[in-house]
This record gives sequence, structure tokens and C-alpha cells, in this order.
Amino acid sequence: MSSTLPAMEYRRLGRSGVQVSVVSLGSWLTFGSQIRNEVAEDLMRLSYDAGINFFDNAEAYAHGRSEQVMGDILRKCAWDRSTYLVSSKVYWGGDKPNQRGLSRKHVVEACHAALKRLQVEYLDLYFCHRPDKDTPIEETVWAMHTLIQQGKVLYWGTSEWSAQQIMEAYAIAREHHLVPPTMEQPQYNLFHRMRVEHEYKRLYSSIGLGTTIWSPLASGVLTGKYAAGIPEGTRLARRGLEWLKNTVLTEDNIRKTELLKPIAAELGATLPQLAIAWCLVCPHVSTVILGASTTEQLRENIAALSIVPKLTSDVLERIEAIVGNKPEPEPEY
Ligand code: NDP
Repeated sequence: MSSTLPAMEYRRLGRSGVQVSVVSLGSWLTFGSQIRNEVAEDLMRLSYDAGINFFDNAEAYAHGRSEQVMGDILRKCAWDRSTYLVSSKVYWGGDKPNQRGLSRKHVVEACHAALKRLQVEYLDLYFCHRPDKDTPIEETVWAMHTLIQQGKVLYWGTSEWSAQQIMEAYAIAREHHLVPPTMEQPQYNLFHRMRVEHEYKRLYSSIGLGTTIWSPLASGVLTGKYAAGIPEGTRLARRGLEWLKNTVLTEDNIRKTELLKPIAAELGATLPQLAIAWCLVCPHVSTVILGASTTEQLRENIAALSIVPKLTSDVLERIEAIVGNKPEPEPEY
């Protein structure tokens, strides 16, 4: 089935030893929610057969059902545990006071619950889904370190933390000889690039930060399918996601997406392939987490790998002229 797809490539997750496929599969809004469990299984099997070795999840996704569905599929597929990585993220576990945030209590309990739902003995990657201003970073760092020492987590990191917060966690870990955070899960796409290309710049060389980037297609806007309205059955047509629609479906984003279409066509690519390949050009991206509601979408998106070599400096400059959001280089004195 995967014979027509390009050969998978792997990158180190920052300076860590672990290797992650350059594209991976996420489950936000799809597993345990939008798609049937059979489709989720098809997506995971297609991914695995194509060489994808990382499946992303979080306690918050579909209130835990996403992890449950993924866990059932992992058990059914019975792949060798050493051939894939699975993640969870902690922050939004429930409405009660100790069910959210990054206290030692919630970090530990959320990990135990994720292990149970995913039906695995350890999480390869465990992320703090957002910073928690009410918990001392030191408490969270110690909790993560302890889980690693207990063999329940292998690598830990953050998601949408500022560079300063990441550095603070890193410094605390170093001071107490604890395992530091080594990865971050930021949003990165043609519309949203400041963190990855600018804010985190020093962290790649100083602490060896790796990134597992999310929403490469800006929730589907970069596929071009919203140009003439909101098609039925698509993510941005779903009830309860108005906040997301208002964030990503702007006139400016639609206009830019339309202008990118001819470039994709010239390269013999589809728009989603161009957008995903563009993310892969950034050397600080360890893996692009793909989202898909059908196997057709996933196939199309994985095939973006073959477009990367076509993104020459000339093509990239034409893309820059359209998106017009390249971060300014730091001034030199
Ligand atoms: P994308 O921006 O790529 O959006 C994926 C959605 O776009 C699909 O579910 C599908 O929605 C549509 N789509 C994808 N491919 C195509 C295609 N070829 N043609 C047409 N439509 C397409 O990624 P996500 O926003 O899903 O993010 C990916 C993953 O990143 C998540 O699953 C999650 O694991 C992670 N994530 C992490 C976050 C964090 O805070 N750490 C936040 C958000 C995501 P549809 O068919 O319904 O229109």
C-alpha cells in the first residue's frame, strides 16, 4: 500500500539520541471524535507502513477518548514497541482544581491515566501542554524527572512555552542534576512562524531543542478548500470550533493561500503538499505532525516529502513574497 509513497526520512529529536520520522500522525479533533475508530486504525496502519514512527496524543483530546482509541489500535496492531514512539500531553485533564495544570499531583496522575488508556508501559514523549503560571516550574521539572527515573516516560518537553520559560526549566534541571526538557511542540506553518524561526533560535544550539510542530496546514486552511466558503464535513464547519475558525479563516490567510496555488501547481504538487514541504525545509523542525480525517488526505500529505527538494531558494523567495511574514534577522552591531 505504501509502495507509491516516498521513502520515509528520520531526524534526531534535537540533540537527543532518539530519531523521529519527519512526518508523524496526530489525533487532535479526529480520534475518538470526528472519525470512526476504523478510520483511525486505517490512518495508523497507513502511517506505520509508510515509515511513520511517532503518534501524538494528549489527555485533553476528546477528553481521553483519543488515547483510548489509539491504545486499542496499538494493542490490535501489536507492533514491536521499539519501532514507534507515542506521546501524551498534560494540562487539561478535567474541571476540578487538581485535574488541570502542571502540579506534581496532576503531572503524575495524568501520566498514569495516559499509560492506562494508551495501554503502554511508558510514554516515549511527554509534554507540558501549556505553561502553568500557578505552579512553580521547579515542581514540574522534579515531577517529570521522577517519572523518567521510574521508567514511565523517556523524554519530556513543553508545548507553547516561551523561550524564557523553557530556559528556566532547563536551568533548574541543570542546577539539580535532573533530566532537562529537550523538546517543544509549537505551532508552525506558513502563517505562524515567529516561535520556531525567531524566538527559539538560540535554544537549538544552547540546549539542543527539538521540535514536533503542529497544525502544518493551519487546520486545513492551507489546503485551499475554504476559498469559496466552508464545505460541509470539514473541520471549520464543526460546531464548537468557531473559535478556531475565527483564528485561522481570515481574509488575509485565504488571499495568501490562493496566491500560493500556482506555485504548487508549477511544482507538480498540491497545496497541502507545498505547505507541509515548506515546514520540512526548516532544519529546526524534527517532525511535522500531520492531521487527517481520511486516508486519502494522509497519503497526499505524506507524499509531501517528495516535494521538499523542489523548494529551491528561488521558489522559497517567491513564497516569502506572498506570505510576507519572515522574521527579521537579529541586528548585528
Ligand atoms: P493540520 O493543520 O494539518 O490540519 C489537519 C486537518 O486539515 C485534517 O484533520 C483535515 O480536516 C484537514 N486536512 C488535512 N489534510 C488535508 C488534505 N490533504 N486535503 C484536505 N483537507 C486536509 O494539523 P492539525 O491541526 O490536525 O495538527 C496536527 C497535530 O498536531 C494534531 O493532531 C495534534 O497531534 C497536534 N497538535 C498539537 C497542539 C498543541 O497544542 N501541542 C495543538 C494542535 C495540534 P477536515 O478533513 O476535518 O477538514
